[in-house]
Amino acid sequence: MIKEKDYSIHEVDDQTSNARLLTCMLRDHYRVREAYGGAEALQIANSDDKPALILLDVMMPDIDGFEVCRRLKTQDETKDIIVIFVTTLNESAAEEIGLNLGAVDYLTKPVRMPIVRARVRNHMNLRKQADMLEALSYIDGLTHVYNRRRFDAALLAEWQRGRRLSRPLAIVMIDFDHFKALNDHYGHGTGDTCLQQGATTLAASLRRPTDLLARYGGEEFVALLPDTDLSGACAMAETMRQAVKALRLRHEYSSTASHVTVSLGVAAMVPTAACAARNLLQLADRALNQAKFEGRDRIGVARLDDAIDMS
Ligand code: GH3
Ligand code: MG
Ligand code: MG
Repeated sequence: MIKEKDYSIHEVDDQTSNARLLTCMLRDHYRVREAYGGAEALQIANSDDKPALILLDVMMPDIDGFEVCRRLKTQDETKDIIVIFVTTLNESAAEEIGLNLGAVDYLTKPVRMPIVRARVRNHMNLRKQADMLEALSYIDGLTHVYNRRRFDAALLAEWQRGRRLSRPLAIVMIDFDHFKALNDHYGHGTGDTCLQQGATTLAASLRRPTDLLARYGGEEFVALLPDTDLSGACAMAETMRQAVKALRLRHEYSSTASHVTVSLGVAAMVPTAACAARNLLQLADRALNQAKFEGRDRIGVARLDDAIDMS
């Protein structure tokens, strides 16, 4: 759940007394930080403490507010910051410039505090709703683990990070065994419950905050394990295999066991320019097929010469 204090607001005004006043009014609800010039505002906007919203003065001696806004809106990392101008420039031509630069609002001084507060709250509520919708768009509706969309984005990002730092990246593909038979005999409702419990258990098996479990499609899941080599990934896969088994979910129609089992395919490599992220995925998929072929309820491991074949 996103809380108001998760967001910070920056108050940018070369007159410290103006900045103080707005800060006092907003700090009960948001984390508020002050900057006293355009350069400082840009520096904070590009730091790790990026604000959600900036109350921006226009006339400042170093870099004026219009220029600050223009620069924020042209950079990918800062273009989502909500900008509200708070200025003594009360001509409509200036207001038009400010709004055309991408600001959502334009308030003239002297400001009425309840109005500033209400406008900030309204814009922040819209931001919170947009952020919650975005977070939801990355979650699988049935199992509540991440979905394929989130996995695809994370795989690309981790592939690039691994390449930059020469660190290994591992993938474990996980597929429920004889799942069609489970659906056919116990019904889809039971199948769905099994996937929910299985997914929760698989996700709980992961250790590091950077590990990620996603539903890849149907009864197939995938774990993305940054900074993990093949032997580490095999250990994780074994933990996941045993965790699902330990649920003891009844499956009398499986020719592998009397309860639900999974097969897993493991692949790991240090990303290089000679290879693409999808090759790692293909390797894990091949390893999974091997595990199925060899009898299910087991782990298949990608061979390094498989990777060489692909490059
Ligand atoms: P194998 O051991 O080779 O993996 O056999 P399998 O039966 O698991 O594989 P198959 O691909 O033949 O069947 C997958 C089944 O998974 C069929 C499909 O109905 C079921 N399935 C996929 N998504 C869902 C879902 O969201 N809910 C339920 N209940 N079943 C699902
Ligand atoms: Mg299956
Ligand atoms: Mg399958």
